[in-house]
Order: sequence, then C-alpha cells, then structure tokens
Amino acid sequence: MNKEYDVVIIGAGVAGLYAALQFSGDVNVLMISKRELTLSNSSLAQGGVAAVLDKDHDNFKLHIADTLIAGKFKNNLSAVEKLVSEGPSDVMRLKDIGVDFDKEKSGELSKTLEAGHSRNRIVHHKDSTGKAIVDTLIENVKAKPNISIKENTYVFELDKVENGFWLGLLSGTEISQVGARFVLIATGGIGRVYQYTTNSAVATGDGIALAHMLGAEIKHLSRIQFHPTAFAAENERERFLISEAVRGEGAVYLNCKGERFAFKYDERGELAPRDVVSDAVIRESIATGSEKFYLDITHKDPEFIKQRFPMIYSRCLEEGVDMTKDKIPVFPCQHYLMGGIQIGANAQTTVEGLYAAGECSHTGVHGANRLASNSLLEALVYSRSAAENMSEKLKKSGKKPLGAAPKLTDGKGRELPKGIRTEIRKIMQDTYFVLPKPEKYQESYTEVDKIVNDLITGNYELTPDFIEARSIAIVAGIILGELKEGINL
Ligand SMILES: Cc1cc2nc3c(=O)[nH]c(=O)nc-3n(C[C@H](O)[C@H](O)[C@H](O)COP(=O)(O)OP(=O)(O)OC[C@H]3O[C@@H](n4cnc5c(N)ncnc54)[C@H](O)[C@@H]3O)c2cc1C
Repeated sequence: MNKEYDVVIIGAGVAGLYAALQFSGDVNVLMISKRELTLSNSSLAQGGVAAVLDKDHDNFKLHIADTLIAGKFKNNLSAVEKLVSEGPSDVMRLKDIGVDFDKEKSGELSKTLEAGHSRNRIVHHKDSTGKAIVDTLIENVKAKPNISIKENTYVFELDKVENGFWLGLLSGTEISQVGARFVLIATGGIGRVYQYTTNSAVATGDGIALAHMLGAEIKHLSRIQFHPTAFAAENERERFLISEAVRGEGAVYLNCKGERFAFKYDERGELAPRDVVSDAVIRESIATGSEKFYLDITHKDPEFIKQRFPMIYSRCLEEGVDMTKDKIPVFPCQHYLMGGIQIGANAQTTVEGLYAAGECSHTGVHGANRLASNSLLEALVYSRSAAENMSEKLKKSGKKPLGAAPKLTDGKGRELPKGIRTEIRKIMQDTYFVLPKPEKYQESYTEVDKIVNDLITGNYELTPDFIEARSIAIVAGIILGELKEGINL
C-alpha cells in the first residue's frame, strides 16, 4: 500500500529543514534527501546570514538599497522588502532553537561586514555558519514525531493528480511511490552543470528539472553567479570556497607572475563585487595565457589567520597548502544560481499545490547578482512562508483524498553511456563561464537539446546517474535556450 502524506519536502538543506519545522503536530510531513542529510550547499555556507538586527546602526532601507545595488536593480522590490523585513525574526528563531552564532563579550550576536553591505549585519559561526545551522535544524527536525525522513532516496518523478501529487522514489535499487497533498521543492542549486563549481555533489538541479517537466514556470536560469576565489585543486570537481572575508582581511590576488592585477580592471581592486573580480581574473587569464592565480595573505599574523579562518586553514592544509606561509592557488567558479522555479510571495509555483524555496527558486530577490549572505536568509523567509501557506490551506480545505497514483516504472532499460555529464559540463564551461560567448550559443543549445531528447525518450535504466544526467541536461538546455534568445544579457 502506497503511503500518503500531507506534505512532502524534497530536499534537506536549510530551506527544506526550516520548512519542516513550521508545521503543527497534526500535519504529517515527509522530508526526502537524495544523499545523507548533511550533504548540501547549506552545509558548505561559510560567511553567514545577513539581517538587520542592530537598529541603532542599521535599518531595512539600507539593507534593501545594498541588495538592489548588488542586483543591478533587476530585483523584485516587494520580494526584497519581504526578505529584509521578515528575515530578522527568522534569524532570531534560529538562535532560539540553538544555533550557536558567534557573540561579542557583551553577549550580543557578533555582526560582520561583507562586500556590498554598507553595515555590519552578517551573523555567523566562525567560517562554518552553514554547518552550524544545518546541524541544529536536523536535531530539531528529528525531535518532531510528525516528520519522517528518507535519506539516500532520489525523487525521480513528480505527477499532478486531483488534490495533490504522486512522487516516484529510488532508494538503492528499490522503486516506490508516495502521495502528497502539497509538495515543497527545496533541492538547491545547479553547480554540477559546470566543471568548476563550489557546490556540493547534490547540486544537479533535479527539482528545477522536475518542476519544468510538470510545466511550472522557470525563470532567469542564466543568472548565474561566478565566485572569484575557489581553491584551484588538481582534482577539478572539488573546489572549496575561499571566502570573500579572506580578501576582506587583506589577502591580495596575484597572477601567474606574482603581480597584483585587480586594480587594472576596477578601482575597487580585490574588493570589487564578485562578478567584477571574476571578470577581471578571466580577462587577466586571457592576457597572460595562464589559469594560475593565487591569493596571498601570508603578510598577516599566522595566529590571526588560524583563529579567523579555522575551516579554510585546515582545508588548505589537507591540500598541502599552509595559508600562513604559502600562496593559495585560486580560480573563479560557478557558485550560485539567482534564477529558478518561479514563485510568488507565499512560495507557490505556477502549479497549484506545488511550492519551491531556497536556491532552486526564483523570487526576484537577487536580481542579476546576489548580495553576499542573502541566500540563507531567502531560504529561511520563503520556506517558512511556504509552510504557513500550506498549513492555512490544509486547515481550510481539510485532508481531501488524492487522485489515483500513476503507473510506476519498473526502472529497467538500457545502460546509460558514460561521459554524458562530462560532455554537458564541458559545453557549459566553454559557452558561458564568467564571460559569455554568444557565438557558441546556438551550436551548444542544439547539442544539449539532442542529449535532452535522447535521455527522455531513450528508455534508459533508472539509476542515480540517469536522474542526475537528465537534470543537468534539462537545466543546461534551459540556460542555453535563454542565452540564445537574448534573455538576461
Ligand atoms: C561554498 C558555499 C558557501 C556559501 N556561503 C554562503 C553564505 O555564507 N551565506 C549565504 O547566505 N549563502 C551562502 N551560500 C549559498 C547557500 O549556502 C545556498 O544557496 C543555500 O544553502 C541553499 O539551500 P537549499 O536548502 O536551497 O539547498 P541545499 O542546501 O543545497 O539542499 C538541497 C537538498 O536537496 C536534496 N535533493 C536534491 N535533489 C534531490 C532529489 N532528486 N531527490 C531528493 N533530494 C534531493 C539534497 O540531497 C539536499 O538535501 C554558499 C554556497 C556555497 C556552495
């Protein structure tokens, strides 16, 4: 017998976990995570969460202005107002449920500055804020008897039926179905569409692909943020982030000849916004014919570096680089997706009963470029809004019976040829990485479109590889389609 839930949440990052906590005990919730609960972009967040908490030195107008400037005024103003005005109480709620944000001696939350913010308003836990938040949220979620959790389970299909949805799940080799009156997609970003990304292995855009296949509106998927400083490991996939705060504390960006170059491209030098510095690095790379770049903070006191950046320090050490003595090899990377599944103020998509929140969604908050530390805030505000809206609807309309479940696949089919994901990543890297290459749009789109069609009609065996390759292909196709049509540029 198939199990039915009031709410199914796809994803266990900050958006999924925080949403789950909002439901009262009589709402039965299932939260699904395709890998272990702690593997997500949320767990990787370093810097912190932006919120106006110090009304003596900061106010909503300033945070709104900073967000609009970073977003090049392409933001949705009412979404930004909601983010900024509602966010502080969500951040305080995190503190109340046990997130150990760093504090001043006075006991006040410590607030730091990041590029693009005109005031100190980033609350943080050392340089591993995301992990501190995720660990606390998981603890709280596990204590709630109305929430069930399925780890290592891939949602591969989402069907709309009367009064709700049916989801197809793959756990190991077992294929099953669950029903839901409401679904929240909280599947995070799309970093793995690129060769170079700071994102975790789960960031393959699965939720965006599922929503797209169901006919939900997807918007501005080609608004992608490239971070200028990811560790340039020999192993191409794992590129951990060297936080902006390292440049904030005085690190300088050097080219292959050991020369500073950022001021040649912008008067703000290394502290210009992310997109500007990334752009400067790629132009300098073309000028020098080399992808070798470094961050150098060796002029600072070693003890200060270890205290201020314990996580980055130890990650660099694991790669054989002692940042107190050695220059850190860095290069730009795909980092964040501003676009996504289109949602309104209550996080509803264009499909009745389907919600989205976090990095997979598009609220319009970030405009053309995300302001640092606004994304965790967005995940909190909009996932709470989604849960509030679903709760209201459940109260009003009661628990109506779900339409019949569609026929479930047996998962059998042809073996997926190797290298599809690598091929798409290469196409994306060559076509649109920091500096767009319009002359390649049409050809790249045609190639990816062919792959999408083959994956959808090719009767392939249902495996995690197949699910992720299909998602990456669909997402790449939408991005290239937007670029080809001249949307966003
Ligand atoms: C290195 C790094 C540093 C960052 N630093 C900051 C920062 O300091 N401040 C800030 O505001 N933002 C930061 N960000 C961005 C921010 O962390 C993310 O935007 C945010 O955490 C996304 O949360 P999410 O809940 O939407 O998705 P995620 O946290 O990525 O969670 C996605 C979840 O979806 C699940 N999932 C995906 N597909 C499926 C499927 N098919 N079936 C089942 N489950 C699925 C995954 O298993 C996972 O549980 C950073 C990002 C990175 C990569």
